[in-house]
Amino acid sequence: MARIFYDEDADLGLLQDRRIGVIGYGSQGHAHALNLQDSGLTVAVGLYPGSPSWEKAQGDGLTVGSVADVARDSDVLMMLVPDQVQRQVYEDHVAPHMAEGKTLMFAHGFNVHFNQIDAPADVDVSMIAPKGPGHLVRREYLSGLGVPALVAIHQDASESALQLALAYGKGIGSARAGILQTTFLEETETDLFGEQVILCGGLTSLIKAAYETLVEAGYQPESAYFETFHEVKLIVDLLYEGGMEYMRYSISDTAEYGDYTRGPRVIDASVKDRMRAILDEIRSGQFASEWIAENQAGRARFLALRRLNAEHPIEEVGKEVRAMMKWLGEQK
Ligand code: NAD
Ligand code: MG
Repeated sequence: MARIFYDEDADLGLLQDRRIGVIGYGSQGHAHALNLQDSGLTVAVGLYPGSPSWEKAQGDGLTVGSVADVARDSDVLMMLVPDQVQRQVYEDHVAPHMAEGKTLMFAHGFNVHFNQIDAPADVDVSMIAPKGPGHLVRREYLSGLGVPALVAIHQDASESALQLALAYGKGIGSARAGILQTTFLEETETDLFGEQVILCGGLTSLIKAAYETLVEAGYQPESAYFETFHEVKLIVDLLYEGGMEYMRYSISDTAEYGDYTRGPRVIDASVKDRMRAILDEIRSGQFASEWIAENQAGRARFLALRRLNAEHPIEEVGKEVRAMMKWLGEQK
């Protein structure tokens, strides 16, 4: 079983006389910087000149500087710019300031595991990866709770990399919920696998296939949307709160019988075969090479796929149906 660390296993004092730099002020960046500062630690945010986040971070009461200045002045540096620009930001502005005794941190292992960023041997390289989006990391911290996180050590030059990473995890509130020990390899490969086969790719493909089946059979698009898309959240909320048995307790016996007898016919052994093939592409580095090359080539294919998917009829019907639910507000 995995090892889990809590508040009593972590010592915030280890960070008391260290300056922390948070590079990026997006989803994760704003939550880490504000939580660490509210935990009484010394934090600066590193951004590129002209970044729209610059004034926002200052308005939130944080010290802001260029990425290079913050990298130079920090003992502990957390990289929270998008994964696809991390290598460039690291090479241009961070690498020149990496020196013995410093700690370089990540919230996702992609660039370290796939050898895009290779810190000097006398630097600690670690990961604290909250298992939730930044707004939740901030909200839970303010409410006195925390979002669980993963901790991993890639390079332990100081022989105290784990204790330091745990202190950082405590500073953002995650040790209140629990910090689970993993490796850069496990975090990176399972994260990519999860988002590809279920969370993002699997779920949207399953919804589209079910929606198209109903519409092609002559049912109204609005009815199809409610049954195959809208209600997903209601079921997922039950699964999230109480597991599969709790979800099945809340639905009708008819729905439960259909679940047991029809679900495995849709998601059968052939699906697992293809999941294994996708896992192999992740583990061999094939997916990473493809995605890195796509970014280097200007992202034409990625942007075309984004446009094509946004034009699917389910998105048009969705806008119309969601407008009926005033409590949803307008999502960008
Ligand atoms: P984001 O896109 O929300 O924010 C990125 C920030 O970086 C923005 O402030 C942007 O202005 C800044 N930025 C972009 N390009 C830059 C450049 N060239 N130089 C300097 N700053 C630049 O990113 P995020 O979702 O917070 O992701 C950050 C890291 O956290 C990633 O490694 C990601 O995998 C990881 N992570 C994200 C989540 C999540 O739910 N969003 C969860 C866990 C881990
Ligand atoms: Mg993930």
